[in-house]
Amino acid sequence: MSFYKKGQKAIIESLYGSEYDDILNGCEKFVRKEIAPSAEKIDKEKISPGENLEKLAELGMIASHFPEKYGSLELPYLVHTAMLEMVSEACASTGVSMSIHNTVCEGLHLYGTEKQKDKYLTNLVTSGEIGSFCLTEPDSGTNILHDMKTTAKKDGKHYVLNGAKTFITNVGLSTLYVVFAKLDDEASIFLVEKGNKGMEFGKPFDKDTVRGSVTCEMFFDDCKIPEENMLGKKGHGAKGVMEMLNKGRVGIATLAVGIAQASLDKSLHYVKKRVVKGRPLSSFQLIQEKIANMTCKVDTARLITYQAAIASAKNDDYFDLLANECKWYASEAALECGLESRRIHAAYGCMMESNVERHLRDAWVTIIGEGTPEILKQTISRLKLKEHEKDPGLEFW
Ligand SMILES: Cc1cc2nc3c(=O)[nH]c(=O)nc-3n(C[C@H](O)[C@H](O)[C@H](O)COP(=O)(O)OP(=O)(O)OC[C@H]3O[C@@H](n4cnc5c(N)ncnc54)[C@H](O)[C@@H]3O)c2cc1C
Repeated sequence: MSFYKKGQKAIIESLYGSEYDDILNGCEKFVRKEIAPSAEKIDKEKISPGENLEKLAELGMIASHFPEKYGSLELPYLVHTAMLEMVSEACASTGVSMSIHNTVCEGLHLYGTEKQKDKYLTNLVTSGEIGSFCLTEPDSGTNILHDMKTTAKKDGKHYVLNGAKTFITNVGLSTLYVVFAKLDDEASIFLVEKGNKGMEFGKPFDKDTVRGSVTCEMFFDDCKIPEENMLGKKGHGAKGVMEMLNKGRVGIATLAVGIAQASLDKSLHYVKKRVVKGRPLSSFQLIQEKIANMTCKVDTARLITYQAAIASAKNDDYFDLLANECKWYASEAALECGLESRRIHAAYGCMMESNVERHLRDAWVTIIGEGTPEILKQTISRLKLKEHEKDPGLEFW
């Protein structure tokens, strides 16, 4: 089965006709040949997907939707989203690293000065250099803006950072770290280069999800950075968190669609191959129900995620709602498809050698990363009620 799905093609062609066929078919071939064969080893041996990320950068696919003047292919965000989905289906460890890297690029693109964009964005888009988004702290994830303990202090023409971050993706691999810290009690954003004195990394965590993708603690001990390395204005952190996270949520939702699709594809193979009572599993109605459930979940998750990608590119004011919706819906779909697939594969699905169980494990990062379901649901409800306040419509009709 092709990594470039009919469901993706239908959405993209409805907007762009066949304009991006060659690029997306080329991506499919690359994913099939280069990414998919590496996925099992990356997961089992916890190998960093750095080599895959380098290859994606060489082909211009790692961050393909930024302006050409920074070296990007300037593809529509929807086309980039389709590429990320293919990569994520083949190898979620590569997909999550690419998605977080894209969040960093979005931040630079949104708030960077031209000098910062020339210096950092161009490298992140073209040269295989990677970025990390450093928000979560040991004492706070969800409530980070309120409870942030990492501080920044002005010292002449520098800022000095102190504190710790945790569960940060791509640490060590990245050359650029986008760090949130409180300056005079307001969150601001800072760019810290790898090798900057005073920034140290912990040992990579031993995770059960996206095992290849590196996740670490970070420590800032009088880490001195030049004043021009503030990203956006002083006190811009709260707005920056929300805007970058919303962009990032579309990336994580895309990762989830890819993972859900992987569970569905492997289940389709298995139900045809596995024979019970002389009949293939696919002939049993309760198994057919699982395939139907997974198919609808994948297609719906993709539709809402791609709708969010379109809204993001158009700066549509519906985007914030869609970003939260797609991340919640698609991550739950990835989890449910992972479970259905494990039920279908039964004992074989419990075996590491089946290479099926990892999709359920990988679904977990999409549930937690860039906002838990509890927070997304609260945000969706708040945004919807606010929208209703502005335009209540008829009460009875
Ligand atoms: C593999 C992986 C990679 C990650 N990569 C990054 C990264 O690159 N950068 C980064 O900054 N972070 C990263 N994270 C961290 C992630 O964003 C946080 O784990 C997430 O935001 C949740 O924070 P927490 O784990 O501290 O949970 P907590 O905030 O402690 O929440 C615990 C539970 O309480 C619930 N809860 C919290 N507040 C409320 C509330 N007000 N109402 C109802 N329920 C609530 C939560 O939904 C959750 O179920 C990563 C995490 C993982 C697992």
